[in-house]
Amino acid sequence: MNQTPTKVAIKACETYDVGLIESSLREMLDEICDMDSLIHPYQKILIKPNLVSPLTPDKAATTNPAVVEAVVRILKSRGVKDIWIGDSGIHGTDKIFEVCGMNDIANRYNCQICDFDGEKIHSVYRQENVILKNIPLTHFVDSCDLIINMPKVKIHHAVLYTGAIKNLYGTIVGKNKMKLHANLGTKDNFENALLDLYSTVNPTLNIMDGIVGMEGNGPANGNPIKSNMLLASTNGLALDIVAMSQIGIGVNDVGYIEKGLKRKMGPKPSEIDVVGDKVPIVVYEKPSAFLVKLNGLVERVTPSIYQHMKPIPKFDKEKCVKCEICEEICPVDSIEMKGLPIVNKKDCISCFCCQEACFSDAIVRSDSKKKGVGNAARK
Ligand code: SF4
Ligand code: SF4
Repeated sequence: MNQTPTKVAIKACETYDVGLIESSLREMLDEICDMDSLIHPYQKILIKPNLVSPLTPDKAATTNPAVVEAVVRILKSRGVKDIWIGDSGIHGTDKIFEVCGMNDIANRYNCQICDFDGEKIHSVYRQENVILKNIPLTHFVDSCDLIINMPKVKIHHAVLYTGAIKNLYGTIVGKNKMKLHANLGTKDNFENALLDLYSTVNPTLNIMDGIVGMEGNGPANGNPIKSNMLLASTNGLALDIVAMSQIGIGVNDVGYIEKGLKRKMGPKPSEIDVVGDKVPIVVYEKPSAFLVKLNGLVERVTPSIYQHMKPIPKFDKEKCVKCEICEEICPVDSIEMKGLPIVNKKDCISCFCCQEACFSDAIVRSDSKKKGVGNAARK
């Protein structure tokens, strides 16, 4: 029997005009799925945007509220009343919802905001998972009928790219996210955990804000860059592969995408049915894919050499406001405040949670090309 190929819809879109986005998304969703059989008025629907940091939408770190609003309007027009917008941020999600424009949407459309961190943990066991059998998820994942994953296209300093699959890391409640980094240890384990998480949460739809993405020091401190696209698919891996190709990243450059293909979580790139517009490719500035892969390889093969060459955070004394958030966030307590933060290289697991948490853009990787940053590390 012939299987229907997995579709990824892509539309050119140059502005955050809600009406324009809504009409584009309506066409795209009709291309990739049967909305009448998928969406019903009685459903409780969870929208999971990427709200990594309390940064305003112009910084391009978070899913733009105009795209979330367009999705809410589509759901409302189908009679859905019980719509939830949720995430778990490392800075206290209350503030993030306000700054990122989600409270405003919730007020105007009578949606509910759910701060995953303020709610009870629902521990999910999934036998088929490779590394994460027990996952401390938000209970909203279990209590909603349908999940709409709404990532932003961005460069990620540690795994090179973040989109649909990586966005679901936010469904892990609070500081468990950082603890997991510490428990998982290696990059290989972390990548498999991302895939386990995606398979467990299993969103019905993935809708990506790629109108303005983030290049450089992402996912929180990079630069906005226009890539003028919206993407949608029922399959997050397929969506990520198409989004990556639009910003100049190959399938083999990103470890968890390679692993996802090996685990048959989506179609091979050649088998994806891409429908919609031909949007010009915009190559994002990124860390060297070679270095990211080399680090993973050395970590696997010769851990003692990796100890010497592993990247660690470097702190910019001009930008650091001594807020101590990095010290608080580090899952292995390897940062100590001595005026400026100091990192203990031996203990550091190169997870870069500290960099993600620093919204003064005062942290870069020691292997980054960025200049003018002093290294406050001790052996
Ligand atoms: S490096 Fe960033 S997070 Fe750490 S103390 Fe300085 S400003 Fe705060
Ligand atoms: S210092 Fe930063 S990169 Fe190193 S373990 Fe702590 S949070 Fe992770």
